[in-house]
Amino acid sequence: MRKIIGTLGSHCSLQVLKGAKDEGFETLLITEKKRYHVYKRFGFIDHVILVDKFRDILESDIQNRLNKLNCILIPHGTLISTLSSEEIESINVPFFGNKFILRWEADRNLKQKLMVESKLQIPRTVKSKREINDLCIVKLHGAAGGKGYFLTSDQKGFEEGYNKLLNDNIVTDENSLYIQEFVRGVPVYLHFFYSPISGEIEFMGVDRRYESDIDGISRIPSKHQLNVPIEPTYNVVGNIPLVLRESLLEGVYEMGENFVLASEKLVPPGIPGPFCLEGVYTKDARFITFEFSARIVAGTNLYVSGSQYSDFLFQNGMSMGRRIALEIKNALKNRKLEAVLT
Ligand code: AMP
Repeated sequence: MRKIIGTLGSHCSLQVLKGAKDEGFETLLITEKKRYHVYKRFGFIDHVILVDKFRDILESDIQNRLNKLNCILIPHGTLISTLSSEEIESINVPFFGNKFILRWEADRNLKQKLMVESKLQIPRTVKSKREINDLCIVKLHGAAGGKGYFLTSDQKGFEEGYNKLLNDNIVTDENSLYIQEFVRGVPVYLHFFYSPISGEIEFMGVDRRYESDIDGISRIPSKHQLNVPIEPTYNVVGNIPLVLRESLLEGVYEMGENFVLASEKLVPPGIPGPFCLEGVYTKDARFITFEFSARIVAGTNLYVSGSQYSDFLFQNGMSMGRRIALEIKNALKNRKLEAVLT
C-alpha cells in the first residue's frame, strides 16, 4: 500500500521531507499557518495540513486526515518540546521508530537509567547543594536547549542561581533543579542510525552546537568579562560540522551498540531509526554522555547531501532524513513494516 511520509514543519522537516522525496515517497507537512510562508517555497512538499498550533495534531480530525492519507509520522524535537509523553503516546497515527522511548528521553530519571544500562560514562550527579565542591551545572527538569541552566562551584552560588530562577517564576521549588558535575572538555553530538531490517548500526555524522551566548563569551576580552556578571545561556542557534579522530570511532560504535542493546532490553522494541549520544570528550579522550536524543536531531541538518561518515556507507549522498525513508522502503519491500513503526 502506498505510504506518505509526514512530519511537523519545524526542526528538521526540510531534510526529512527532501529525503523522503528522493527515495520516491509522497510527502506531507503539518505546520502552523504563520510558518507556511517559509515552507511554500519547496517543491518536494506534496501535501500540507495547516494548523493554528502544533498541538492541534492531538485533534482526532487531523489524525483521521493523516490516516486516510496513509501517513507515517517522523517524530523530531518539536514534537517532544510541544507535547507531553502521554500526549505523544496517545496519537493514533503510525510513528517511525519507537514512540515509547521518547518518554525516556523526556524524563531525567528514566534517561539516567537507560544511560547506565547502556554502560555509558555519565557525569556524576550531585545529590544535594551541600555536596557541591567543584564546578557543577544546574539544570531544570525537562528544560529544552539549556534554558535556565546555570553554573556554580559552591552552595552559595547554587542558592543565588535558584533565587534568580524563583524570582523569574521559572521554578517554584529547589527539587525541580538537578545538579550535575560539569564535565571539562569539548561537547560533541554523535548521530547514529540503527536498522532492525539489516541489524546494523550506522554512524552517520557528528556535529557541535553553536549556542548563545556561551559561544560568544570568548569574544569578550577577560577584563570586560570580569566587569559584567555573565550567566551563560545555552540556546542553540545552529550547528557546526565536525569530524572525529579516526581512532575514536571504535569507542563510538561500541557506545552505539550498547545503547541499542539496552534500549531493546528496557524499552521494547528498542531504538529502530536515528538517535544521538550527546556528551563531552575529555582531555584524555573519554566520552562522558550527558544526554541522548531518541530520534533524529537537528544537527543532522548539516548533512543534507551526506556526511563524511555516511559517504563511506552509501552511494548517494545520504542524509538522516533520507536514511529514514530508505528504511521504510526496505521494510515495505521485506514486509517488515511493523519492525520500524509503533
Ligand atoms: P543540553 O540541553 O543538556 O543539551 O545541554 C545544553 C548545554 O549544556 C550543552 O552545550 C552542553 O555542552 C552543556 N552541558 C550539559 N551538561 C553538561 C555537563 N554535565 N558538563 C558540561 N557541559 C554540559
